[in-house]
Amino acid sequence: MTLMEVKNVQRVFGKGESEFIALNDVSLTIEKGESVAIIGKSGSGKSTLMHILALLDRPTKGKIILDGKDVTQIKEKQLNHVRNQQFGFVFKQFFMNAKDSVLDNVTLPLKISSVPAKRRKELAMKALQQVDLAEKAKSKANDLSGGQKQRVCVARAIINQPQVIFADEPTGNLDSTTGERIENLLFDLNQSQGITLIIVTHDEDLAARCDRKIRMRDGKIIEEVK
Ligand code: ADP
Ligand code: MG
Repeated sequence: MTLMEVKNVQRVFGKGESEFIALNDVSLTIEKGESVAIIGKSGSGKSTLMHILALLDRPTKGKIILDGKDVTQIKEKQLNHVRNQQFGFVFKQFFMNAKDSVLDNVTLPLKISSVPAKRRKELAMKALQQVDLAEKAKSKANDLSGGQKQRVCVARAIINQPQVIFADEPTGNLDSTTGERIENLLFDLNQSQGITLIIVTHDEDLAARCDRKIRMRDGKIIEEVK
């Protein structure tokens, strides 16, 4: 079953002399339950493509079809809803609220979707158990190690039971042993729950574990390896 289709997408930043074509006529189909690595040199357009796929950014030209529905032009509010309900995010930079507790960081997506506090806590504890960090629920996010922070981010990503997890260099700030633990978590979720993984990475070993590798250069897909 097809999850997402990207059709002839272009993304242009800036105007006039400073115009820059970050994505140049990119087309791609992603099936449900796949794991897809987006690879390529720095500046090749990987993050730009991921942001478009994740509906965090809109294409200048082209179409995005999600679950058979054209979402290219839908309103911001609806986009936010789709992202909140269906997508989970893990970034290299973690993006946590450092002063808040682990629990508060994990429940954030549920707060946004107005889930009652008691239910939020239950679901957060379940998600934290899955990443083996239930005992850190009350700790301040800032007091955790890098690997623990990224596991909290994985817990936050799965709390809404998303159909897709988008990860932008999820192991980029971690040593290899800690990074491998994050990788294992993500692939376990892919295998056991059928969550589609879309991972931007420089890491060849991580890319090799994915079903497909899409290589970018100068805003184009130049190669696809299955
Ligand atoms: P990658 O993730 O592969 O390193 P990016 O997708 O972040 O690359 O960026 C691709 C190109 O687009 C880079 O040259 C970058 O400078 C440019 N770019 C990305 N975002 C913006 C932006 N908001 N404004 C202007 N240029 C941008
Ligand atoms: Mg990037």
